[in-house]
Amino acid sequence: MAKHAVAIAGGGPTGLMLAGELALAGIDVAIVERRASQELDGSRSGGLQSRTIEVLDQRGIADRFLAEGQAMQVQSFARIPLDISDFPTRHNYGLALWQSHFERILAAWVSELGVPIARGREVTGFAQDDTGVDVELSGGQSLRADYLVGCDGGRSVIRKAADIEFPGWDPSTSWLIAEVEMDEEPEIGMRAGGGIGRADGGSVRVVLTEQHLEHTGEPTLQDLSEALIAVDGTDYGVHSPTWISRFTDMTRQAASYRKGRVLLAGDAAHVHPPQGGQGLNTGVQDAVNLGWKLAQVVSGTSPIGLLDTYHAERHPVGACVLHNTMAQVALSGTDERTDALRDTMTELLSMDEPRKRFAGMISGLDIHYDLGEGHPLLGRRMPDLDLVTADGPLRVFTLLHDAKPVLLNLGEPGGSDITPWADRVRMIDAEYVGLWELPVLGAVTAPGAVLIRPDGYVAWVGEGTGTRLRDALTTWFGTP
Ligand SMILES: Cc1cc2nc3c(=O)[nH]c(=O)nc-3n(C[C@H](O)[C@H](O)[C@H](O)COP(=O)(O)OP(=O)(O)OC[C@H]3O[C@@H](n4cnc5c(N)ncnc54)[C@H](O)[C@@H]3O)c2cc1C
Repeated sequence: MAKHAVAIAGGGPTGLMLAGELALAGIDVAIVERRASQELDGSRSGGLQSRTIEVLDQRGIADRFLAEGQAMQVQSFARIPLDISDFPTRHNYGLALWQSHFERILAAWVSELGVPIARGREVTGFAQDDTGVDVELSGGQSLRADYLVGCDGGRSVIRKAADIEFPGWDPSTSWLIAEVEMDEEPEIGMRAGGGIGRADGGSVRVVLTEQHLEHTGEPTLQDLSEALIAVDGTDYGVHSPTWISRFTDMTRQAASYRKGRVLLAGDAAHVHPPQGGQGLNTGVQDAVNLGWKLAQVVSGTSPIGLLDTYHAERHPVGACVLHNTMAQVALSGTDERTDALRDTMTELLSMDEPRKRFAGMISGLDIHYDLGEGHPLLGRRMPDLDLVTADGPLRVFTLLHDAKPVLLNLGEPGGSDITPWADRVRMIDAEYVGLWELPVLGAVTAPGAVLIRPDGYVAWVGEGTGTRLRDALTTWFGTP
């Protein structure tokens, strides 16, 4: 029986990112993926939010994605555009990039890191004991792992086998999504509840609200034709679908992101409608939160309790996404009262403060993990500042490429002593002369030193080497 430190069920966006994070930390990780190749039927996610581009930049791989997508102001709330070009980030935009391309580029990185992917295999169940998990695979085989992570999507077998509750809301609306050819030129643009646009290769991508919620079979070209006629009065001579699919606004979240040695991430932990384009982004960021913690637990640096912070930090972020997508669905109705409500929201979101708040939420730049009282940076993303060091100029994100924690001392050189943690936390003396500015919050006072976790969030802010720094180092990076 094959043995790995971590087994990941599902090699979609979340599973791939998690595998990359674990491999960077030197952990023996393997993916089991049902699909025979990384090819994806249908386009699904249309792109990346700013914070996701930042986390990829933290690993030095953002350029691979930026080279293949289109940087633009893609953020929206209930289809109301939210411009973030004035946000203090190097990536003050979103990236239009279909999920199939995102997965292909990410899979190439994971492959460079040497992660084995068992393709065309399915996880069918598991049994955990005090020391590990036996993972059952289709075809009667199995593997053993210290930990198992279910990144196996909304219908997660792992979540069900772990008997983790998935409370939430049943669907209220169903949408058709398809890539098709049309004899006549359709009117490109948004419609109430959906829209028509160009897909890769010039075919037409259609998303339309269906008249009915209940369906017995798979969606057909006839269903699509009817939905087009209901909205536009014509089906534009629709034919030759590459694929037709259906999604709903079912909204659910796992009650717990961990049960013993089994964890959930991405769609396995939360499902919600695609309004606002947050699902893939949330999954990738779940993975970046979990990866270094799981790596430290597996390597014995930290106790298993560190994994509780994964649920504590990411469950509220998921809950916020569920909440805002429910509001967006409520605003996607086609009646005149909903139109009036959307006009009202549009007016509100044209004002600076509401726009910044909502854009911060949708872009992921406002994420604030509750690490207690203190400087506004505590629990928030570390900005990618241009530092000056004894060795020359340096970007903060460059320091995070190898996914190791960093103590950035901006005061007197040598002002902090972290010798007992020197094997796991890198200490950098640097200068920064510019403004400290956070998205949504604005300017904040310049800190003397910051302790940055591998996921790019700030774990401690202060000066010198007080007990609080030692506490933070112990909490996050284990006892010396
Ligand atoms: C129409 C639509 C539009 C969307 N638009 C956006 C958007 O614009 N922005 C955005 O951020 N998100 C968007 N999303 C959501 C996004 O597609 C998902 O959130 C994202 O794919 C979740 O990634 P994941 O890796 O967690 O799960 P998945 O992508 O579902 O991947 C799960 C993987 O696990 C595999 N698998 C499943 N079961 C097993 C098993 N038992 N054993 C082994 N392997 C298994 C599957 O084959 C799959 O590869 C959209 C979704 C839809 C439907």
